[in-house]
Amino acid sequence: MVQAKVLVIHLKNESAESVINKVKRLNEKSGPFECIFFLGDLLSKLDQVDISTLPPIYCFTSLPDSPVNGSDEVQANLTRLNGYGVYQMTNKLRIGYIALEEAKCNELKDKILEKFKLVNAPIDILITREWSTHIAELKDRLSGSDTIDDVAKLLQPRYHFTYSDNDTFFELNPFLWNEKESVSRFINLATYGSGSKWAYAFNIKIETDDDIEDEHESNLPTNLISNPYSTTNIKKRPMDLIDTDGQQVTKSSISLKKPRKVLPIDCHFCFTNPNMEDHMIISIDDSAYMTTAKGPLTVPKGDMNFPGHCLIIPIEHIPKFNNVDGQSPFETPLGKDLLAYERSVVNMNYQKFDMSTIVFEINSERSIHFHKQVFPIPKYLIMKFNESLDRQLHFNNEKYSRNAKLNFEKFETTSDLRYEAIVKNSNMNYLQFTVYETPITEPAIYVSKFELDDRLDLQFGRRVVAFLLHLPNRLNWDSPTCQQTKEQEMIDVEKFQKSYKEYDIAKSK
Ligand SMILES: [Zn+2]
Repeated sequence: MVQAKVLVIHLKNESAESVINKVKRLNEKSGPFECIFFLGDLLSKLDQVDISTLPPIYCFTSLPDSPVNGSDEVQANLTRLNGYGVYQMTNKLRIGYIALEEAKCNELKDKILEKFKLVNAPIDILITREWSTHIAELKDRLSGSDTIDDVAKLLQPRYHFTYSDNDTFFELNPFLWNEKESVSRFINLATYGSGSKWAYAFNIKIETDDDIEDEHESNLPTNLISNPYSTTNIKKRPMDLIDTDGQQVTKSSISLKKPRKVLPIDCHFCFTNPNMEDHMIISIDDSAYMTTAKGPLTVPKGDMNFPGHCLIIPIEHIPKFNNVDGQSPFETPLGKDLLAYERSVVNMNYQKFDMSTIVFEINSERSIHFHKQVFPIPKYLIMKFNESLDRQLHFNNEKYSRNAKLNFEKFETTSDLRYEAIVKNSNMNYLQFTVYETPITEPAIYVSKFELDDRLDLQFGRRVVAFLLHLPNRLNWDSPTCQQTKEQEMIDVEKFQKSYKEYDIAKSK
């Protein structure tokens, strides 16, 4: 067993000189590295300068008109990996790569899978421009390619790097591939200058021919999560292919969405998860609790000296709230608790801060843990909700053609029989906005049903409210603009609690 020290970096818009200086510094500080992978195309820059003193560099490109797929050595120490393929280094490290953008990944899916089906898993490093859809969904991201899911399942990479999201550094907790105790890690590297991590150094063991038996990792990480690609409940279709490893490969370009099983121990909203961020809790009642939002959309405004964006969450790990067939979910202890929390925040926002309130929720069998998002809205903007909704609907339905088409129905009261019919049917999956202009008038309710197999934009609610509030750069909760330190989060919780004290339903019992 040999160890190799590897560096992966994501640079863009840097001069050749700056690129070389950064690499030299990293190599001196944390190296020397066996090899360096450059995410994104920096080839044209490196081609101009002398890199002979540096470790071998690999650049990923996707030349649109080039017939070349695969590697070619541009100069000594500089190799281009174009399109998609597998590259074996002299030290036996095996690299799989797909530098193609989402549309190309989908278009060439069959060819790509054909190629990767011949590769023995696990592969050491997989580098793809795009995210897999399963991991993108875990992060509430809209993009991602099914092709990458299938390739990840075929190759079972020990490290999977992506680079289509320039602003986000994201590392998923490690997970295992079935019985083979091969640990897999997924990392999206941000670009240099984004404020997020853009370089990643690691040691990787290279299996040589003499130690095939020793393929188990002796020390498994303690923060393992369930495999995000786990294929339980997968439905077989006649079009599916089964390869020699028994791995299922979908030939059709339509994805087979499988429910992800996230156990309470890995769930952000479950108290049994030891990593749950309990410093964000505002109040806990018998069946539900309330927290501030991570990376809040709203910002302090007027008398409200805290963001005000909060979540109302059932204590029980349930994907949807309308889960008892035939019964009104509002009449259960949970339903009553959720509604009491919702109303209490509506009251506080209006009485203390002269603000209206919008609540957004997704009721889906595919969700991990149901929750309501509550946003304080200045009164003069609440009238424009319809307009914002229409505008985002237009984008969703016309521009993002792969998304489920949404169609909202408006109800003037929760006792509307058509509304009751939706919430009392536990098979129904729907998005809901509740718009409270004031706490005394009935809220307007907007509901759009969807099918379980539909590809849903999980950020739709936040998108509509971000547009309404003219806060486009706060759309993503994990963007550098929205992220807060733990200290900031604790200060905001304290401020929220101070204002909320007299409204708190848990304390009034
Ligand atoms: Zn949970």
